[in-house]
Amino acid sequence: MAEPLIFDLSKDGRRGYTLPELDVPEVDPADHIPARFLRKELNMPSLSEVEVVRHFTRLSRLNHSLDVGFYPLGSCTMKYNPKVNEDMARLPGFAHIHPLQPEDTVQGALKMLSKLESYLCEITGMDSMTLQPAAGAQGELTGLLIMQAYHRKNNNHKTKIIIPDSGHGTNPASCSMVGYEVVNVKSDPRGGVDMEDLKSKLTPDVAGLMITNPNTLGLFDENIGELANLIHSVDGLVYYDGANLNAIMGWTRPGDMGFDIVHLNLHKTFSTPHGGGGPGAGPVGVKSHLEAYLPNPRIQFDGKKYKVTTKCRESVGPVLASLGNFLVLVRAFAYITVNGREGLKDISTHAVLNANYMMQRLKKTYKLPYDRFCKHEFVLSGKTLGEFGVKTLDVAKRLLDFGFHAPTVYFPLIVEEAMMIEPTETESKGTLDCFMEALEMIAAEAKENAEILKQAPVKTPVRRLDEATAARKPDINYYRKPE
Ligand SMILES: *Cc1c(COP(=O)(O)O)cnc(C)c1O
Repeated sequence: MAEPLIFDLSKDGRRGYTLPELDVPEVDPADHIPARFLRKELNMPSLSEVEVVRHFTRLSRLNHSLDVGFYPLGSCTMKYNPKVNEDMARLPGFAHIHPLQPEDTVQGALKMLSKLESYLCEITGMDSMTLQPAAGAQGELTGLLIMQAYHRKNNNHKTKIIIPDSGHGTNPASCSMVGYEVVNVKSDPRGGVDMEDLKSKLTPDVAGLMITNPNTLGLFDENIGELANLIHSVDGLVYYDGANLNAIMGWTRPGDMGFDIVHLNLHKTFSTPHGGGGPGAGPVGVKSHLEAYLPNPRIQFDGKKYKVTTKCRESVGPVLASLGNFLVLVRAFAYITVNGREGLKDISTHAVLNANYMMQRLKKTYKLPYDRFCKHEFVLSGKTLGEFGVKTLDVAKRLLDFGFHAPTVYFPLIVEEAMMIEPTETESKGTLDCFMEALEMIAAEAKENAEILKQAPVKTPVRRLDEATAARKPDINYYRKPE
């Protein structure tokens, strides 16, 4: 790696700041602060401001990011994050407040949160919303705790959750965390839930169904109304994994499809920068019959003032030590207000249009296992390249050499050698064309000289890593070159 540690760049005497002249009497810190908190030596690097800026800018360039290039990572909705969101999150009234400040001093912030709750209710067709969960997966956990509390309150004996085999990995993981057993249902040849398989698994101990719609194949399940009715017929609840809301926003609503609980991924659909594990926000919305179970504290408006209350009597308790991942919520609020109702609808329209445009061209080069109108993403299979000894992983690595982030690969599990492509609405036709050309060139390389693909990537800061070791035993030590 080319970039040294900031400590190795340090030169004694360099400074990145100048303090104004002291205009208060000088005191000895030892008179005011217990000695155990004071240090004589503090090992801090000394650099000028421009050296600091260049160091971090060079580091940032070792990674691919949205501000550098196309990022069609399926299911992750890597859309461009408008800079106006950042401006709003930097307003001192938002950026400089503390979660424990008295209510009277943060009325504006509480109003913003409360309005965001109502916007999200309107977008999803739900009655109440909590902004607490800090990610989609934590939203799932919260929603399932609500489901469990509801069944306990009603003395329902429930032990199982049904999840389609195309479901996201966090779905079964969240079920296990609250102690539910996962029952998988098969997909039918059109990529939707196999209704016969579902009916055969629908027993009175089913607590609910957890489903993404459109699902991870990017396909809308037309049976969703019937599915919801079936689950309700055994007093189960229907949970909507809202990670794919970008496909339907403004056109239809989970609340209208029969869902009882919804989580959203604000960092996906509502455009806040994400990746590398954070930051995020996963608000959870419920229909009125589940409102009493929402996490406390809640924000309430009494006609004059916003208050933070514990009004939910059957609450599952707080799931975060504050009202939410606040500055992510500010960004999402800015995004919604800037775009408005028609704007949000347009966003979905273009996300779907872009995906279908790409799917129609790429299906000539790669296998398309479910050939029907898609929503915001689609899944190809790299299986046909197998005859040249090439795997989807090789295609993904080669794409990096063209300056693109790879699609999501090997997911969903029901497609062999899967490549899941989500262009989002923010990319131009030119960018989509360039990306498709790269995928076509790679398919040609596979036939002519597969070794190029096997060696890829060659233009990235690091070459091909051992994926399992890199994830499970990352070597994050910095080794100084011997002098
Ligand atoms: C991203 C995603 C999740 C998990 O959300 P996080 O915010 O990453 O925790 C769940 N389901 C689907 C379909 C997703 O794409």
